Amino acid sequence: MKVEVLKPISYCFGVTKAIDTALKIREEYKDNDVYFFGDLVHNKFVIDYFKEKGIKVIPFNEENAFNQLERFKSDDIVIFSAHGHNEKYEELLKLKGIKYFDTTCVKVKQILNIIQNSNREIIYIGKKRHPETFASLSYSDKIYLYEYGKEFDFSQLNSDNPIVLNQSTLSFLELTDIFNIIQKNLPKATIYDEICGAARIRQENILKIHDKFDLIIVVGDSNSSNSTKLFEISNSCNKKAKTIMVANLDELKKIDLKEFKSAVLTSGTSTPLVIINEIEEYLRNL
Ligand code: SF4
Repeated sequence: MKVEVLKPISYCFGVTKAIDTALKIREEYKDNDVYFFGDLVHNKFVIDYFKEKGIKVIPFNEENAFNQLERFKSDDIVIFSAHGHNEKYEELLKLKGIKYFDTTCVKVKQILNIIQNSNREIIYIGKKRHPETFASLSYSDKIYLYEYGKEFDFSQLNSDNPIVLNQSTLSFLELTDIFNIIQKNLPKATIYDEICGAARIRQENILKIHDKFDLIIVVGDSNSSNSTKLFEISNSCNKKAKTIMVANLDELKKIDLKEFKSAVLTSGTSTPLVIINEIEEYLRNL
C-alpha cells in the first residue's frame, strides 16, 4: 500500500519533557516508591513502559484526590501529570513533607496563569472530566465551565465582559463555533484562543490532504483528547476518504483494509514513534 506520514508526528514538546523528567526522577530516586498521580500522559504504551520501570500509577479521581494524596508516605515521590493539577494538592504534600515533581506542560501553565491572575469572570471551554479541565477550574472561584458539546447557561454570569479560555487540545473548528455563540451572547467578552500549536498544526494538516488518499489513520489512544479531536475533524471533513483511529498495530490488524490502496498516517501528541513506525511498515507490506 502507498503510505505517507504527516509531520509533525509522535510526541509534542510537552510530552517529551514530561517523559524525560519522569525518566530522570526514576533514575535519581532508585530506592524510593515513585508514583504518577494520574496518567503522566494519555497513552497506555507510555504508562506501561514506566510501570515496567517500577513507577506506580494512582488513577486520578478528582472527587477523591485529597484522600488519595493523604495515603502517601514521607519517602514516596509523587509526579504530577502534564495536564496540570489543583495547586492545593501540592500544599497538602508540602505539609506532609513529601517530595513531588510537576510535569505540567508550559502551554497548560500559561492558561493556568491567565486564570489565576484574572480578576474577571472566566468562561472555560473544556471536556468535563479531563484532568486539564479539573486543574483549570480549581484556579479561580469565578470560573464557569462551558462544557464541550453542551449548551451554556449565560444567565449564571454576573458580568457582561468575562474572559474566555479553553482546554488546550480541543478542535479548532468546533471552538470557532463556540466562540461565535459566546460573541453573540456577550459582545464584550475577551476571547483568548488557547489551542496549543502542537495540536492545531496536526488538525490543520489533516484538512490539507484533500482526495490524495483513501484511508486516513489517526494513531492514538481513545482517552487522548488531541487524538480524538484529530479523528473527529478528519471524519467530518475528509468525506472521500475513510478515517479510522487505532491505538496500535494489533488494533489495526483487526480491520479489513483490502479495499484501500493508499493511506496517510497522523498521530496524537502522546503517541510513541515506535508504534507509528510499526504501523507504517505493516501498511507498506500490504
Ligand atoms: S499537546 Fe500541547 S498542551 Fe498538550 S502537552 Fe503537548 S504541547 Fe503541551
